[in-house]
Amino acid sequence: MESFIQFGSMKIDFRLEYSNRKSLGITVTSDLEVLVKAPVDASLDKIKEKLQKKAPWIIRQQSFFLSFHPKTPARKFISGETHLYLGRQYRLKINEGKSVSVKLKGKFIVVTTTDKNKVKQLVNDWYLKNAKLKLHAIAQPIIEKFKKYKVEPSSIVLRDMPTRWGSCTPKGKIILNPELIKAPKGCIEYVVIHELCHLIHHDHTQKFIDLQMKEMKDWEKWKAKLEKLLA
Ligand SMILES: [Zn+2]
Repeated sequence: MESFIQFGSMKIDFRLEYSNRKSLGITVTSDLEVLVKAPVDASLDKIKEKLQKKAPWIIRQQSFFLSFHPKTPARKFISGETHLYLGRQYRLKINEGKSVSVKLKGKFIVVTTTDKNKVKQLVNDWYLKNAKLKLHAIAQPIIEKFKKYKVEPSSIVLRDMPTRWGSCTPKGKIILNPELIKAPKGCIEYVVIHELCHLIHHDHTQKFIDLQMKEMKDWEKWKAKLEKLLA
């Protein structure tokens, strides 16, 4: 269920789930959502009381995620630095070793390399490899859904575009920005749905907006998140 507390002038929304546990768990996601897991017998008043005490921490977490910009030129590709993958934050952990690999492990992107100067290249290659796999996997079920409109993209390709997340050619080829792999899945779905709607309506007319709304009710939320991501 959804609820909120008032902390000074700030309203903090949270999502509450009851589960078989003994204590209250509070998490702030990289989407700025506050998730509260509570024991089944906890009263809403008690939960809100606890959240009041944790409010400064919640706000700190949210502003931390808000200020996060994956494209900032300050990326140094050193141990401890945070990088986004599918909307979640991971810390770089760099090991010098005899082999070369990049792996997700818990909250880390673990880079093993023989040459520390190659970390940036290795991480970027890893992002691109995963972008190819995941962006297609996320797009596929949406493409299937759009077959009811008798449209289908001729192909989906990835291409770096400095100012766009996606585009669509007159011949029906959909181009996605590989940087999307850093965004939450909902943002990626939004871009795919937006471009697929363009196979039916080429401009941003009311008909286009209506169709996009029909296929994704909360598209505005995901669009806003995406804009924040590379602000
Ligand atoms: Zn458009």
